Amino acid sequence: MDTTALANLLFPDITKTIEDYEAQYPPRNLPEGAVVTRIAPSPTGFVHLGNLYNAIGERLAHQTGGVFYLRIEDTDQKREVEGAVEAVIDAMNFYGVHFDEGATVDGETGAYGPYRQRQRKELYQTVAKSLVLRGLAYPCFCTEDDLKAMHEQQEAGKENYGYYGKYAVWRDRSYDDIAAEIAKGTEWVLRFRSEGDPENSVAVLDGIRGEVHVQENFTDFVLLKSDGIPTYHFAHVCDDHFMRTTHVIRDESWLATLPIHVQLFDILGWQRPIYCHTATLMKMDGSSKRKLSKRKDPELALSFYRQAGIPQEATWLYLLTVLNSNFEEWHLANPDASSREFTFSLEKMGTSGSLFDLEKLDNIAKEYLSRQTTDLVYDGLLAWAKEYDPALAARMTEKEALYRGAIGVGRGGEKPRKDYGSWRDAAAFLAFYDAETFTLTDGCPENADGENRRDILNRYLETLDFADTQETWFAKVKELTDALGYAVQPKKYKKNPEDYKGSIVDVTNLLRVALTGRQNAPDIWEISHVLGETETRRRLEAYRDAQ
Ligand code: GLU
Repeated sequence: MDTTALANLLFPDITKTIEDYEAQYPPRNLPEGAVVTRIAPSPTGFVHLGNLYNAIGERLAHQTGGVFYLRIEDTDQKREVEGAVEAVIDAMNFYGVHFDEGATVDGETGAYGPYRQRQRKELYQTVAKSLVLRGLAYPCFCTEDDLKAMHEQQEAGKENYGYYGKYAVWRDRSYDDIAAEIAKGTEWVLRFRSEGDPENSVAVLDGIRGEVHVQENFTDFVLLKSDGIPTYHFAHVCDDHFMRTTHVIRDESWLATLPIHVQLFDILGWQRPIYCHTATLMKMDGSSKRKLSKRKDPELALSFYRQAGIPQEATWLYLLTVLNSNFEEWHLANPDASSREFTFSLEKMGTSGSLFDLEKLDNIAKEYLSRQTTDLVYDGLLAWAKEYDPALAARMTEKEALYRGAIGVGRGGEKPRKDYGSWRDAAAFLAFYDAETFTLTDGCPENADGENRRDILNRYLETLDFADTQETWFAKVKELTDALGYAVQPKKYKKNPEDYKGSIVDVTNLLRVALTGRQNAPDIWEISHVLGETETRRRLEAYRDAQ
């Protein structure tokens, strides 16, 4: 076969060579050990947790003085949606992940672009042409139906799937046969001519998993599709080579096609990057584990966490807890340190199905928020509300002191309250402070209802003095409890219920319901001071007079 004639027949317009691109994209001038890595999402509009998960590469790059960039893998035009690039950038920004180079909303920055694959067609075709020249690639004119028939035959014969051996019907066709098809205008794809043997195994060093052994690729896989656009496999190899990527951090589902990728790197004489295959995100479904699914699990979408108002740092704390085996320990030892201070290492990443658990995330988020200042919580809630609950944002701005006071209740000290782990939950939790959103959620404790309710509230109102300290206030509550026939010590009431109307718990729960609408609420004295005397009295009177 005259490969030069074939290369020119297939790629008449390609005049550049690989060397031209080598010169255009020289090795990066970075310190020894610097990591160059990227995320490479497809612009489908769906930014998923895995994108953030793999953006952990940003830590590695920046910890080592390297580069983190964004490449848009838009080879599948059918799946592309408008605004998808903005969505990725916006989501990453939101989580504090910043790119040094790559695609931007209105273009790109960096010397290794273009960073959108469809704009790199000439580069892929140049590499493809070089493979044809070397006799390592050839066109295939099989139709979808041909390939389907091949697959069925392989299935029936329990043979390896793929285009190889006797199934590779275009592998050794003559130049004339090929030229005749091209002259007819028959569509073709470009296939790699593999010399691999399924009996061979190839060792690949994985940054997370250590040395992995994969079966050598023996199929003549597709390099370029019929529109001249590359497959993921071919594009990934060309791009990560010419963008001088040192680490390819991607989901473990790519382990299956790793043999193809290393074969291409090797045959092209390019240094393989360090592959880092991250564990697939899983969840418990009943008693079995399964992959998180776009269709079934809203929590796979990154927007889920933002909408719910889970603070970014809490999301990171959770992600790192799930991803890195040494993170939890570090965090326990440094509870107030930012997760960014943690030195991230690939070797400590999990290798099998990371289990996602929203309850654990909520606990981490509650713990995190309980340790934050009133200012941070107020600002975080307001920022979230501006986007997702404008009415709340307006109330917060109008009644800033009330909301700050409410957020401050139970904050600080040895055992801060952990009432909410998200801004959405905070909004619901804090609603009772604001007269506009106050609602009676719980009923009156039975032992303190009817006549007793009136008596207790009347007496409480009479003795209530906002100048009292918390201790004096509580002494008065105890006095009232005793005077009205309730047990000051709940134990005593439990032992001899017939001697009392109820216990101090009934009295305080009544006050809580009157003031907050709920039996389970923070400290009454603190709440009253946030509400102020007028509002406190108004609520107590209203509850006393309510039926
Ligand atoms: N476009 C691929 C994906 O979204 C990128 C995989 C990679 O990082 O190489 O899964």
